[in-house]
Amino acid sequence: MLPIVQNDSPTGVVTPFSQRIRANGERFLRRELSELQINLGKLCNQTCTHCHVDAGPTKRRENMSADVARRVMELAMETPSLKTIDLTGGAPEMNPHFREMAKLFRDAGIRVIDRCNLTILSEPGYEWVAPFLADNGIDVIASLPCYLEDNVDSQRGEGVFTRSIEGLRRLNELGYAVPGKTDGRLRLDLVYNPTGPHLPPAQDALEVDYRRELRNRYAIEFDSLLAITNIPIRRYAQYLRKRGVFDDYLKMLADAFNPAAIEGVMCRSLISIGWDGRIYDCDFNQMVDLSIESPTVWTIESLSEFVERPIALADHCYGCTAGAGSSCSGSLT
Ligand code: SF4
Ligand code: SF4
Repeated sequence: MLPIVQNDSPTGVVTPFSQRIRANGERFLRRELSELQINLGKLCNQTCTHCHVDAGPTKRRENMSADVARRVMELAMETPSLKTIDLTGGAPEMNPHFREMAKLFRDAGIRVIDRCNLTILSEPGYEWVAPFLADNGIDVIASLPCYLEDNVDSQRGEGVFTRSIEGLRRLNELGYAVPGKTDGRLRLDLVYNPTGPHLPPAQDALEVDYRRELRNRYAIEFDSLLAITNIPIRRYAQYLRKRGVFDDYLKMLADAFNPAAIEGVMCRSLISIGWDGRIYDCDFNQMVDLSIESPTVWTIESLSEFVERPIALADHCYGCTAGAGSSCSGSLT
C-alpha cells in the first residue's frame, strides 16, 4: 500500500485525488527539502476576491509572533539543503519580524523571495519596503493578473492596478529586472492567475503578451511571468459557490489531470510554516488546515524530518496537476 493520505472529507464531486494518484502508480513522498515557505500572517492591505489566504486589513489580524519567528529562523538555519526561502502572507512586509528574517537568510547566502502585492510599496508607513528589498538582494514575486486596469481592479480592488504599476516602476528604478543583466540579482517575476473559472493559458505565450503590453504602455520590465491556477479553497471556493460553479470548476480541473505534472508539484521539495508555527505540506493545505500529524515548530527537532515523508492530499490538489500543472513558481510542464 502506498503511503498516501486523503482529506477526511473529499468533496464527492470528483474521484478523490489520492485514488487518482494511486491508480497512476505514484509514490507521493517529499523527495528533498530545498524550499521553505513562511507565511507571516493574514494581515494584508488588500482584500482580493481570489485570495486563498482569506487575508485582509481589518478582520484578519493574525501575525507571526517573535517566539515563532525566532524558532523558524533557528530551524531554517540548521537545514543546509534549503536554497530558497519564500516569505508570504497576507502582506509579509506587515509583520514586524519580516526584516530580521529576510536579512538573516540573505546574509547566509539563501535566496529570499518576497511575495509582494505591489500596493504595499505605496502604503503610508511602508515606504521602506522597496529600498530594503533592493539593498538586501531580495527577489520579488508580484501578482498582476492582467495588464488591463479593469480586470485587475475587479479581482484585487479599485485603484490596485494604478498602484501596482507605480510599484513596478519603483522596483525597476531600484535595479529590478534590468534588461540584459546577467548576475541573476534582483529578479522581478509577475504572477498571472485567471480572473474567471478556467485554467491559465500557455505561460510562454502569455509572457510575450505581458512583456509587449507592459513595455509599450508603461515602460515596465520584468523577468518571467508565472501562470498559476486558482486553487478552489477559502475565498476562491466561496466565489465559485456564490456563482454556482464550484462543482464544474473542480470537475474541469480533474478532467485536465496531467500525470506529467505530479513530479514537479511544490510539496515534493517544499514545506510551509504558518503564522502560528504549524507546519504543512504547502500553503494550500495550510489554508484548509490539512496535515498528517499536525506538526509544529515546537514538536520537531529538524526540518529534515519531512524528507521521504508522505504528503496530505485532497481534491484541491487537482489545481496543481491540471493542464500544464501549477505551483508557486508557475507552470510545471
Ligand atoms: S491575494 Fe495577496 S494581496 Fe490579495 S488579499 Fe490575499 S494576501 Fe492580500
Ligand atoms: S495542493 Fe498541490 S502542493 Fe499542496 S499537497 Fe496538493 S498537490 Fe501538493
